Amino acid sequence: MRADLHMHSTASDGSLTPEELLGRAAAAGVELMSITDHDTVNAYRDLPAAASGTGPRLIPGVEFSARWRKLGIHIVGLNIDPQSAAMQTAGQHQARVRNNRAERIAAKLEKLGFTDTLAGARQLAGDASIGRPHFARYLVDSGQISSEPKAFQKYLGQGKTGDVREDWPETEAVIDWIESAGGVAVLAHPGKYKLTNLKLETLVQDFAAAGGRAIEVLCGQQEQKLTRKLEKLANRNGLAASCGSDFHSPQQHWAQVGAVALLPRNCVPVWEIW
Ligand code: AMP
Ligand code: MN
Ligand code: MN
Ligand code: MN
Repeated sequence: MRADLHMHSTASDGSLTPEELLGRAAAAGVELMSITDHDTVNAYRDLPAAASGTGPRLIPGVEFSARWRKLGIHIVGLNIDPQSAAMQTAGQHQARVRNNRAERIAAKLEKLGFTDTLAGARQLAGDASIGRPHFARYLVDSGQISSEPKAFQKYLGQGKTGDVREDWPETEAVIDWIESAGGVAVLAHPGKYKLTNLKLETLVQDFAAAGGRAIEVLCGQQEQKLTRKLEKLANRNGLAASCGSDFHSPQQHWAQVGAVALLPRNCVPVWEIW
């Protein structure tokens, strides 16, 4: 199955509309897809519940920000009901957290001497889920920093001053939202948290104990060594496997829609358990 179960639209920090994502996925030969915006299911407001005709099958999804110990982690919810009470509550809660957090990020950037960052990021975000990428883009657009990667490296990336994560809900609460909405909770990109093997194992054990049912064994183009490690991690903990490109924009040529390998044969694909 050619599946891409992780991508972003203009409802969060992606540059294409949900319709454009559907078109790209169809062109790439994707059979099963999910649009998983950061902390919002608004992408599904404008789309039919199921894509019809010959295109890919669209599974409603979301990517929630959560806290595990002191770390910010991402949890993808797949096959959720976007109209469920749980998803409405979750969306409202996370929007509030994001708005307050944007104020705190802005205050931290102002302390470093950057100017007008809250208004600038808000304007770029518009109706979308506001996040660090909007701050990064504003700093570049306003000539205050030379590139978005540099903005993350120095000020916004994991562990830097603008990485405000204290207010995200606990992992258990996020998994409960997803389960209540009829979905499957998937630990997103486990290879990207810069954890030791031991810590990663603990995270995955805790995630499974809290009701998580899958992990992303494939996130975009990654080394085979990592794929094998995550495949074993999933199987050892009785978890299914998901896969996605984490597409954000056509400019990120290394993460295009559908650019993800087939799941290893030893894994239980997440679409077999929802
Ligand atoms: P937020 O949702 O506000 O926590 O921002 C997280 C988003 O920022 C991720 O989903 C990525 O799209 C983006 N991001 C995170 N780290 C980096 C990085 N080092 N370089 C560029 N973009 C990043
Ligand atoms: Mn993103
Ligand atoms: Mn993520
Ligand atoms: Mn993502």
